[in-house]
Amino acid sequence: MTGIYGEILTFPQQSGPDIRLRVFGSHDYSRYETISGFTVIYDHGLGQFCYAMESGEDLVSTGVSLDHSPPEGIVRHLSEPNRTVGNVVERLRRGESAEARSHHTVNRTFGPNQGLLNGRRLSIGTIRGLTILVNFSDVVSTTTAAHVAHMTNGPNYTLNGNASSVRDYFLTVSNGKLDYTNTVVGPYTLSQPRAFYMTQLLVEEALGLAVADGVDLSHFDSQGEGIVDALNILYAGQSVYQGNLWPHNSFLELTHGGVRTNLYLLTGLGRNPNELTIGTFCHENGHLLCRFPDMYDYGSRDDDDQDSAGIGRYCLMGSGNHLDFGRSPAPVCAYLRDLAGWCDNVIDLNTDGNYESIHGDYGTVMKYRSSKPNEYFVVENRTRQGLDRALPASGLAVYHCDIFGSNEYQQGSATRHYQCALLQADGRRDLENDARNQGDSEDLFAQVSGIALTSTTNPHTREWDMRDSGLILADISAPADMMSFTVGATSPTVTATGESMPNLAIPDNLAGGITDAIVIAASGVVERILVKVDIVHTYIGDLLIELSAPSGTRDVLHARQGGSQDDLLTIYDSDQPGELNAMIGQPMQGIWTLHVSDRAGLDTGTLVKWELTIVSTSLDRSADSQIAVSAPVPRGRPVRS
Ligand SMILES: [Zn+2]
Repeated sequence: MTGIYGEILTFPQQSGPDIRLRVFGSHDYSRYETISGFTVIYDHGLGQFCYAMESGEDLVSTGVSLDHSPPEGIVRHLSEPNRTVGNVVERLRRGESAEARSHHTVNRTFGPNQGLLNGRRLSIGTIRGLTILVNFSDVVSTTTAAHVAHMTNGPNYTLNGNASSVRDYFLTVSNGKLDYTNTVVGPYTLSQPRAFYMTQLLVEEALGLAVADGVDLSHFDSQGEGIVDALNILYAGQSVYQGNLWPHNSFLELTHGGVRTNLYLLTGLGRNPNELTIGTFCHENGHLLCRFPDMYDYGSRDDDDQDSAGIGRYCLMGSGNHLDFGRSPAPVCAYLRDLAGWCDNVIDLNTDGNYESIHGDYGTVMKYRSSKPNEYFVVENRTRQGLDRALPASGLAVYHCDIFGSNEYQQGSATRHYQCALLQADGRRDLENDARNQGDSEDLFAQVSGIALTSTTNPHTREWDMRDSGLILADISAPADMMSFTVGATSPTVTATGESMPNLAIPDNLAGGITDAIVIAASGVVERILVKVDIVHTYIGDLLIELSAPSGTRDVLHARQGGSQDDLLTIYDSDQPGELNAMIGQPMQGIWTLHVSDRAGLDTGTLVKWELTIVSTSLDRSADSQIAVSAPVPRGRPVRS
């Protein structure tokens, strides 16, 4: 099912105009608020949304519709206590058949089947789905079966800004292992108006209309078991996040011609073809075909009354299906792709060394095993491109996984923790602490020189029982097609520094200018370099400043920027984009030369002082006392005995 976190959506009323409300929740429990924050309830008697009021532990309708001002004394953001929510869910489940309940684990954020949901799994092979379009007697869509067939099966489908068709989405994320196509029929017209199906299920009627129209269910039984692979019902109009029309998937056994249905998906078709998006269709089929659990938190459920975001936007099964209004759903994350059996190439990170993670290489999973078989870490390149184009951040993702966990549990304790937790680079644990934050620009690791993750950093790589997993990640490159990083026990990161105070006058308007040198005796390779300059001058726009390495490689620090500004006291840092890039990887031992020239007449100045700081992973300690030893970093390809 699909979770919603405060999005504003439009709702039909039987006896009133459509209305815009903020929604929180999921198919089996939801809460609605006016834009100004008053909780409302759909009053079936009046056929309208009305302000809600407390009655004991429940919320009930005041009978005052929203075209009136809120009744005296009503406060904003009313919500039902956890116990009531649980009772509501239980009441809903009680209406289901035993078979249907068996498909419901206690909650769908927990995967009893080695991390996946119970039930028939069709995540590999050529799978055929039946998609039935229906109109209500009072709501009709102009979308045709051809429009939907294009969205579900079309090669290079990009209408409405969609990233691809559903078929291409699953072919891509499954590394070609799941070829899922749909036969689209209809639209058929249901016998009742839309409001009727808020409380009644339309699946049986829709299927009956399709069979009466000559649809042969055996065509959708790719396994030859007399069971329909997948049944998708799309109803006219936008998805209604209310009652039985809330987009969801569930189990219903209906038999026609000796073939029976199993799992089905129900969601909105949109009012017209321009509203077709693949996000929710892919998410619900992730449940239906692959038995993926939800990777978001249902809120107050299972004696956990705190809401959180789970993995948020970073996976189709979190809230990634809503990225770019459902047009660019996030890929299925590496953790679930691995559970689905889509990754032939398993890279074991338990060997020290340098690694490369290729973006979009969906057949590969990079894993670091912990002391427990069910718990491990997964690393994945999530540079903001391709299917990741709408992600909130760009860089390397590190997930802490446990197939016995549940994304309902944000506590992060030994007994209550996520099934797949993103170790957010900013260390703020926003996904766990704030359900409104479904992901932000500081969640992924990008361009980290030196240590990024150990058992003592924040976030850390300790196991859920706080045991040190031994995982050390360092030297993560910038987001790109290929991101490199190193794993394992490392030799010390060292820093060599030098300074010079020449107090040298810079000849006016002379290209030759002046030079000054700093000698670095230590040997090693530059991994990071910082240059601090202190120049007194009355017009820094005259100045050209360059640095040359012992190898002769030269890089420009200041190219006559700054105009009439006085004096230059600044630090150039290779960690900053576009600065000193040419120096990375250079041998550091030898003479480093600063070249300063004044390229225009009239204004003059002096090179007062400059400093050089070089960070490296390999240093010949015996060389020089100007060395500072700090946290360890990796050294080349593996393995130390
Ligand atoms: Zn779901």
